[in-house]
Amino acid sequence: MALLSLQNATLRFGGIVALDDVSLAVEAGTIAGLIGPNGAGKTTAFNVITRLYRLESGDVVFDGRSILRTPPSRIIRAGIARTFQNVELFPTMTVLENVLVGAHTTSLFEREESVRRRALETIDFVGITHVAGRRAAGLPFGTLKRVELARALVSRPRLLLLDEPAGGLNHEEVEELAIFILRLRDDLKLTVLLVEHHMNLVMRVSDHVHVLNFGRTIASGVPAEVQRNPRVIEAYLGGELEASA
Ligand code: ATP
Repeated sequence: MALLSLQNATLRFGGIVALDDVSLAVEAGTIAGLIGPNGAGKTTAFNVITRLYRLESGDVVFDGRSILRTPPSRIIRAGIARTFQNVELFPTMTVLENVLVGAHTTSLFEREESVRRRALETIDFVGITHVAGRRAAGLPFGTLKRVELARALVSRPRLLLLDEPAGGLNHEEVEELAIFILRLRDDLKLTVLLVEHHMNLVMRVSDHVHVLNFGRTIASGVPAEVQRNPRVIEAYLGGELEASA
């Protein structure tokens, strides 16, 4: 069953079409890749799902219910957490404090020690316990990306939206990230929607890949199908190579 679906989603900014009648479904317990060239509408889709942007028409259904009336501040409690393309942390706060911000979004009746324990366990899960007491400012980029992951995970989401998690990471870090994303699905039983330009990573971890170009769906299927789809090849290579190349 689909945990999340965008149904005929349409959104324009002035004259620019960001999403044009886009429908996509993310099955529970899977990793779905959302790819497309720059400006295709991927981050816009995330902003629609997290209610930062309002659709002109269409619907967003999460766990069988439309979330178009859910305010952005309630999305995380509904079970959807995200990371950002450009890391968005509080630089003067420690790693633990940044993660506690994520924990407090879902800790209404939880005791402070328990919230803290949960934050520390999550910091451990993403492998950055050694910097838990350090300020975010000045930490290496790869570490900051893990802090963002921890801040999202600590809210115990059912759906995790990852916006270019491999951006700015070195080869070794991307390898670790691939294993980590698979663990999210296999060990934590999370559903993941992954926006990413790193094709090897997307094709390796995704169960299903959805491709946007200029706000429209141009392909959707398992990675092997999508990779050999002529429309996808053309969108990425600007039609310079034949589809069969
Ligand atoms: P990238 O891979 O470069 O991050 P993307 O697929 O995430 O691209 P979006 O950021 O979703 O693309 O942008 C889709 C289109 O909508 C682009 O033309 C972009 O300039 C436009 N757009 C997005 N957000 C806004 C906004 N707040 N105001 C005006 N135009 C916007």
